[in-house]
Amino acid sequence: MTTGLSGGLALRLDARCSVSASLSRLWADRTSPRLLRLICLATYLKVASRPTPAAEFIARSAGMITVGLLRLPGMDDHPIAELAAYFRTTTRLPDEELARLALAARGAGSRWEAIASACHVSTYKDLVGVIYRITGESGAELLYSATQDAVRQLSGTENYHQPLTWTCQPCGQQVTDRAPAGRPVHVEHGHGLGCARLARDQAAEDQRRREHVPGLILDSEPAAGLVQRHWLRERITDDCPRCGWHGYFHHYIATVDGDWANAVCDDCYADLHPDITVTVKFYVARVPRSLPGGGEAVAVIRQRDRSDHDYPGIGHFPDLGQQMTWRLWWEHTSMLVEEARASCDYDLTPISRDQAESVAAGLAAPHWPPDAARLPWISCPYPQ
Ligand SMILES: [Zn+2]
Ligand SMILES: [Zn+2]
Repeated sequence: MTTGLSGGLALRLDARCSVSASLSRLWADRTSPRLLRLICLATYLKVASRPTPAAEFIARSAGMITVGLLRLPGMDDHPIAELAAYFRTTTRLPDEELARLALAARGAGSRWEAIASACHVSTYKDLVGVIYRITGESGAELLYSATQDAVRQLSGTENYHQPLTWTCQPCGQQVTDRAPAGRPVHVEHGHGLGCARLARDQAAEDQRRREHVPGLILDSEPAAGLVQRHWLRERITDDCPRCGWHGYFHHYIATVDGDWANAVCDDCYADLHPDITVTVKFYVARVPRSLPGGGEAVAVIRQRDRSDHDYPGIGHFPDLGQQMTWRLWWEHTSMLVEEARASCDYDLTPISRDQAESVAAGLAAPHWPPDAARLPWISCPYPQ
């Protein structure tokens, strides 16, 4: 099928493609910026002078059009094998092929870690001669960020953090892929209710953690109620399924009721410990009134004060503070320290827990599907 666009541009789509009603609506409004982006996309595809399955992924990822599943004979059946061949032969991987194959592999059921493993990608050195963008430490992170960048280049979006999307074959829904690793129920958004693939992947992730995490432990403290703290042999990077912290676990990880699959961070250990009191303050960071967009909320911050944190010769003080990041994790922020030094670029204001909840929801909603905004640490910025 060929869909005519202004100026003689034509977006050639495979005969099995169906252009959605959203394209019709865009077409009715020729001044729409979205239509202009679509025309740019059409120009690119015309220059490419061949119908390309990448069109489906690019368009879908850019949120511009929805088209039916494109397949070329014998191509999408083995996207991982095709992708791995580029690395095996050290052949330059074009953006459209990276986007097409990586997203097809995700849709067909492979996690980023499995895709990286099949391609023998574990460090940036494994990308040499194949992919020229290197962001990330693990194979999964490297491929995820390279794919994200490829989609961004192809779709022409300015958003460097454009989420990746693909169609989950078992449930048929468009899934938004929030991160290269993590618990599938927390990082894949949009699966259909009761999706068997999501349940399978989450069960496998739970089992992997039950087998893997105990091996990271040097020693364990006595349990305090339901919670037990364990000393790590070395620092790890992980996320806390209770409070949404993402980053280093320097010394400890804690189990609740002996559950290694859902081990929590040390702050959650303090929360759950019967003899430790944790108080939390919330802040909102806004663009200064004197600047364009003044008053707009850009971040929500939480700061804990633990009764067990007394430092020899220093005394007692609260932690640095955590900020909800664009990717919906809570990570350290320097804004409270900068505010204390009067050098923060934003206006910081103390807010209530309810207000923090409202700000967090407002920051998440424009960029992520509704079920992402329902993550426990977004709908409630601090575990109750
Ligand atoms: Zn699914
Ligand atoms: Zn936590």
